Amino acid sequence: MIVKQRKKPIKALKLEALLRRLPSEHQKIDILKKELRKCLAGYNGEKAIDFYLLQLSGDKHLVLHDLRLPDSTGHYIQLDITILTAGFVVILEVKNIAGTLLFDDVFNQLLRISKDDVQALPDPLLQVERQKHQLHCFLEKHNIKNLPIVPLIVISNPSTVLKADERRRNISQKVIRAAALPLKLSNLYNQFPNELFTQKELRKLSRLLIKNHCTANPDILSQFHIQKNEILPGVYCPDCFYIPSKRKSGSWICPQCNSRSKDAHILSLKDYSLLISNQLTNKSIREFLCLNSYSIASKLLVSLELSHTGEGKGRKYELPYSD
Ligand SMILES: [Zn+2]
Repeated sequence: MIVKQRKKPIKALKLEALLRRLPSEHQKIDILKKELRKCLAGYNGEKAIDFYLLQLSGDKHLVLHDLRLPDSTGHYIQLDITILTAGFVVILEVKNIAGTLLFDDVFNQLLRISKDDVQALPDPLLQVERQKHQLHCFLEKHNIKNLPIVPLIVISNPSTVLKADERRRNISQKVIRAAALPLKLSNLYNQFPNELFTQKELRKLSRLLIKNHCTANPDILSQFHIQKNEILPGVYCPDCFYIPSKRKSGSWICPQCNSRSKDAHILSLKDYSLLISNQLTNKSIREFLCLNSYSIASKLLVSLELSHTGEGKGRKYELPYSD
């Protein structure tokens, strides 16, 4: 049973918003597109595991996607997929990498070998061992002791070729293909037959993890050294993405494809919340949506039914989108 659903990563949403709102000749476009591709590959890799996760029956397994828990050093424990059972916890690190992967034991690196290139990536085995240690410390802090944690690396792309050093035969215990997940879990039930938790306690553990989850909110503009004034303001056309649409008789009209929309500003305000701030004033909505009229801006703000603080021109509205 899935108790914490997967959402599209906020970093991907921010990159998509930024790519919509930079001039096509902007010098950072290629680097942003590459970053977005990387981010979506990870997301799609995790989605590819869903088919096998759905085969896990009923309440016996509680599945949590994308947990981000604080550790004791001011950092975060980032877990792609966590599976709670009565006798053990499995943490899955999903890798969606095409080509041939060679696990290099000597230098603790993962080599990605393609036709004309060899690329060294951080060793995922070290990564999952670190996650295991961090989660162990987190659980101890909450008085949950002696719960076995099994880290696994799941290769989501069926065409990826896996290779390892001859001496590292036990690697197949830690790196598995997605299709092998149900069998691997049933082997783990044999390995850890003792039930340490009742169903009620297992539920309580899942609530503890969800309560401590902190959603990431990366500052994409400073990460890529882009200034706010480089972002194109205006309502984008939901059909052809042209910026800006024109406000006419209560609708947004696209000058490029002539499409008409009553509520295109809602999507553009989502971009505002992803890239600039989740607080909005009458002045900032007029600037961002390219509106001249104070009263039209007020009308749009009222129609959005946002929670707000303050009165008159200083009133601040909260955009809920970046949750
Ligand atoms: Zn259009």
